[in-house]
Amino acid sequence: MGDLPPVTRLAPTPSGALHVGNARTFLATWGLARRLGWKIVLRLEDLDIGRVKAGAHEESSTDLAWLGIDWDDAPLVQSADLSPYRDALEQLARAGQTFPCGRSRSEIRTALSAPHADDGEARFPPALRPTKPWPNTIETWETNHRFALDPAPEFVFDALLGPQTFDPGLEVGDMVLWTKLGMPAYQLAVVIDDARQGVTDVVRGDDLLASAARQQVIARALGLQHARWWHVPLVYGEDGKRLAKRHGSHSLQALRNAQVAPERVIGWCAWTLGLMPTCEPLPARDFCVLCTPEALRESAQRLRTQPTIFGPQDLAFLEGRSNSHPAAPSASP
Ligand code: GLU
Repeated sequence: MGDLPPVTRLAPTPSGALHVGNARTFLATWGLARRLGWKIVLRLEDLDIGRVKAGAHEESSTDLAWLGIDWDDAPLVQSADLSPYRDALEQLARAGQTFPCGRSRSEIRTALSAPHADDGEARFPPALRPTKPWPNTIETWETNHRFALDPAPEFVFDALLGPQTFDPGLEVGDMVLWTKLGMPAYQLAVVIDDARQGVTDVVRGDDLLASAARQQVIARALGLQHARWWHVPLVYGEDGKRLAKRHGSHSLQALRNAQVAPERVIGWCAWTLGLMPTCEPLPARDFCVLCTPEALRESAQRLRTQPTIFGPQDLAFLEGRSNSHPAAPSASP
C-alpha cells in the first residue's frame, strides 16, 4: 500500500460574498494542492451564528466553483454535529486544562470568529484566572470555558514564511475554547476539524499566522498532530486594511453578475502573487502549473514587505474596462 496523499482544506466562513482577496488565497490553496497531488476537503465554518448569512453556504461553493476550484469530498458543515468539539472540551477539562469563566462579554464575539491580524486583541488578565481546583467535568455548556495558557515561546515553522516565534500566553492568555452561546470557539473547532479531516497542510491567509501557534498548543494538549502551515499574505485596500466590502465592488458575486470571465480574476491573482510577469486572463489549469511551492515562497516573502494594494486600476482590469494592468505588481502604498 502506498502512502496516503497529503490533505489540505478550503475553509470558507459562509458570511457573505467572497472577494478577490479571498479568491487569491483559495486559488493558492487549490493550485498548490492540484500541482502537488494533494487531496482537498471543503469545510464550511458556520459556527459563528451571528455572521453566517442564509444562503451563503451555496454562495461560497458557487464562488469557488466559478473560479474552477474543485474539491474531493462532500463538505463538512461544522454546525451539523457539535459532539466532536464537546468531547474535546471534556478531555481538556478532565486533564485540568480548562476552567469555566463567567466574566467575558465581548470575548464571545472574538472567540467565535477567526482572529484576523487587524482585529486588535486583548490578553485575558492573569489575575482573573480562578484558583485551582477547577471542575474536571463540564457542569454547564452555557458558559465560557477557557484554556489555561501561561507565557511560553511557541515555535511555528511556516513552509512559505519560514521560522516564526509567538507567545500565545502573552498575546491572548487564557483562550476561550467554548462560548456561553453553547458553541465551540474558532480555535477549538479548527484544531478538531483539521485533525478529523486528516488535514496535513493548512494553506490560508497570513492574518492567521499567530493563530497557528495557538492551534499548536491546543493540538498538543489534545494529543493531536498539527498540520504544516503555509500562510499566504492577504490583499489590502488603499487604506492599508485587509480587503473588505467597504473597499468596493470586488465580490466574486458582483463580478460574476457583471459577466466578468473568471480567467480575469485568476490572471490578476497569479500576477499579484508574482507567478506571472504580466496581468492578463489565465485559465485555472494554467494557474496550477504556475503555482509551485518555490514560486509561492518567493512571492509570500516579498508580499510581507510589499503587500498587494487593491485599487481602481485593479477593478478596471477585473471588470474588463482595461485589457492589461499598467502598474507593476505589489506597488507599495
Ligand atoms: N473560516 C476562517 C476564516 O474565514 C478560516 C479559518 C482557517 O483557515 O483556519 O477566516
